Amino acid sequence: MKYKRVLLKLSGEALMGDKTHGIDSARLTQYADEVKSVANQGVELAIVIGGGNIFRGVEAEANGIGRVQGDYMGMLATVINAMALQSALEKEGMYTRLMAGLNMEQVCEPFIRRRAMRHLEKNRIVIFGAGIGNPYFTTDSTASLRAIEIEAEVVLKGTRVDGVYDSDPEKNENAKKFENLSFQEAYEKNLNIMDMTAFTLCQENNLPIIVFDMNRKGNLNKLIAGENVGTLIS
Ligand code: UDP
Repeated sequence: MKYKRVLLKLSGEALMGDKTHGIDSARLTQYADEVKSVANQGVELAIVIGGGNIFRGVEAEANGIGRVQGDYMGMLATVINAMALQSALEKEGMYTRLMAGLNMEQVCEPFIRRRAMRHLEKNRIVIFGAGIGNPYFTTDSTASLRAIEIEAEVVLKGTRVDGVYDSDPEKNENAKKFENLSFQEAYEKNLNIMDMTAFTLCQENNLPIIVFDMNRKGNLNKLIAGENVGTLIS
């Protein structure tokens, strides 16, 4: 096993599967299976999930909702996804804790760093909902910040493409995939791996990021075992 403690970032959009919005139950179960296969090996796992399948703050303004209000709505959307994921993981027999950046104690624990660390030590899967709890941030920045706080060795950014390319592989069939990148190269090439806040946090704290295809069965396991999957930014 290459990694002992990791932070997995999943986008809300990925949960849609082939649907146009909301949560696809087959996709949810698939993710739960992937997580289970690594958790069973004793890997300590924290998960940040986005909310893009339900609501995004930046889109709110166009609908007459202010940015800040929209961002809070986006944070609530991530809690809905986090609760769905928590249920899916528990259905598979895993122990989980949901910790949130906003106070909603009927459904989530507040985020307390030492307590999160303790959960991980006890092999509970910790899901971070409601982002950081502040507007103008994203779940990518949440992933970077929480990963640093809980001393994760790596941020695993699960996407639907199998790594970072020099152009969009869904539009350009000659797009070239990178195996490894330095933070500096990724920045100079303007590769948009995460938003700048998230990216800079990782760079300044020497926290590597691996971008990989979460929808391919077994990928998460291979990554944990140290196989070359996706693109490593370090
Ligand atoms: N959000 C926020 N602060 C945070 C995390 C999230 O304001 O710390 C809001 C923001 O509006 C964002 C939305 O929650 O658009 C959903 O998260 P995100 O867009 O990162 O989800 P993803 O694209 O990964 O599905």
